[in-house]
Parts: sequence; structure tokens; C-alpha cells
Amino acid sequence: MEKTIAQIEKEALKELEAAPDSESIKAISARYLGRKGAVTRYLRNISTLSLELRPEAGEKANKTKKTLDALFKKALNKLESAHIETDDRIDVSLPGRAVRQGSLHPITQITQQICDIFIRLGFDVAEGPEVETDYYNFEALNIPKNHPARDMQDTFYISNNIVLRTHTSPTQPRIMEKQKPPVRIIAPGKVYRCDSDLTHTPMFHQVEGLLVDKNVSFGDLKGVLTTFVHQMFDKETGLRFRPSFFPFTEPSAEVDIRCVICKGDGCRVCSKTGWLEVLGAGMVHPAVFENVGYDTTRYTGFAFGMGVERIAMLKYGIDDIRKYFENDLRFLRQF
Ligand SMILES: [Zn+2]
Repeated sequence: MEKTIAQIEKEALKELEAAPDSESIKAISARYLGRKGAVTRYLRNISTLSLELRPEAGEKANKTKKTLDALFKKALNKLESAHIETDDRIDVSLPGRAVRQGSLHPITQITQQICDIFIRLGFDVAEGPEVETDYYNFEALNIPKNHPARDMQDTFYISNNIVLRTHTSPTQPRIMEKQKPPVRIIAPGKVYRCDSDLTHTPMFHQVEGLLVDKNVSFGDLKGVLTTFVHQMFDKETGLRFRPSFFPFTEPSAEVDIRCVICKGDGCRVCSKTGWLEVLGAGMVHPAVFENVGYDTTRYTGFAFGMGVERIAMLKYGIDDIRKYFENDLRFLRQF
């Protein structure tokens, strides 16, 4: 044997120290530990030594092999991680890519604004199921089977007695059954009707309100709704109450506001009338109170309801309700 294993190791370490890059480290590794490498050849030649020298020489050579292998790997790893930091394909000084932030859907925003106004007036938010029984959706609200009012609220039937609710009003008898007066609630949520055109979608949103207490009058209803309209639109917005019919209120009224687009001069949105219908309201019908066991000689109350899309369309000046549900980001990003 020409060189001792110690000499080979010393030479390898010297070369490794001078290696400028990972390619040369790999080449050095091959020259020493490869199939024809110096250490490999040395190990193979141990069989030519005398018997008593073989164990010690073998042990030393294997130790060198392990040491060098570990050192080569360590040197390569160090270069690799340094390489990532200085890789010219990645410009670490560039600003990061911003993640586009989403926003609340305009209908959700308007629902929250409506709720906020009524919460400030002392109302609590109540929620009920969207899949509702015929009883709560119709009968408890004084709309018996075969009543013509059901035609105005044609809905989707799950079975004979289970429907997708046509309004959020069923929340009212559900709350009244559990709670004695006074009651002050608003019920926001999704509702469903068989209807689809420029101003109707089969699913839309409502916020309905109910107040029950002693000595509640129509004057209180007017005061609450006027406050609401003034806070939702602006303080100059005029209101008018027109007699109407709902099975669950008596007397009942449709509530119009002065057109927010033309300020009353008459335009396409208000069909030249200067007024816009935004709410239905009235004093709770005694039959509704009897259904939940309230004493109609002691308590009176009022109820009202509005379509959130309608309010949102007027507030943002949008004439096609379907835009809200097309999921077009160019539309939604404007809110
Ligand atoms: Zn108008």
C-alpha cells in the first residue's frame, strides 16, 4: 500500500476545504468514496495485508469513510441553504403579493345596518327556521288553509305541512309562545316565494319587527318607522301610510317614502309617482295574540316588515335585483 488511511483522510480534508462549490464537493466525494475512490480502494486492498494487521486497518478505514461522508454531506447542505438565500431567480427585495381581501355581501351589510337601527331603539334580534311548518308560516298568523292571501305567498312545499317560509313572521308566534309581554324583536333572514323577474327572486331577505306591550298605539308604530327611515335614508325623507290589508294586522298600512332618486319629482324608479313602497305594517290582529295565549284586553302591539333587497336597491340605486345573486365580483367589489 502506497498511502496510509490517515494520509488519504488528510488529503481529502484539504481538498474539501478548498472546494469552491457543490459541484466540486460532489467530485471530491466521488474521488474518495465512489466505487473507484481512494478510500474504497483502500478498503478493498485490506485483504492483501497480513492477518494480524487487517482488523485495525479495517476499523480505521471504516471510521475515515464515515467521517468523510458526514463532512461532505454537511458541506453540501450548507451550500444548498446559502444558495436559496442568494438565488438570483428569487428577488427577496420584491414586495409580497397582497391577498385580495373580501368584503361582506351588500345584502348582509344592509341587513346589519337595519338591525343596528332597531337595536338602538331597544329591539332584540330573533331568528327562526327557514324550513317552517304550515302552522307557524300561515295559520298562527291568521292565514287559514284556503285563505286567498296564500296566493300572494306561493312557496315551495317540502310536504303538505312543511314549507320554505314565505316571510320571517313565523319567528313572532314562536317567540310569543315562549315569552310573556313586553316583546320587542326584529327577525332578519332568508325567505322564499315562487317568483322571478327584475324585482323578484325566489329567495330574498326580510327584516320584520314586532312590539307588544300595554298601551301600544298606531302612533308608536309611526314614530318607530319614521325614526328608522330617517336613519336609514336621510332626515328629510318623507313618509306616507296608505291603508292596506294583511291577515295578521288590523288596521294595516303600506308605508311609502319620498322617492330617494328624484326627491318626489317623479322618475322611472318611482313610476312618476314620487313615492316608493318600502314597508308593510299594522297593529297585530287579536287572532294572532289568541293563538299564542296573550290577553287581548291587556296587550296591544304592532308589526312591520321590509324586503332587504328593496332597501339595498334604493340605497345603492340598483334597478335589477338579480345582480345581488349573480356572484359577479366586479359588482360585489363596489360595496
Ligand atoms: Zn322617483
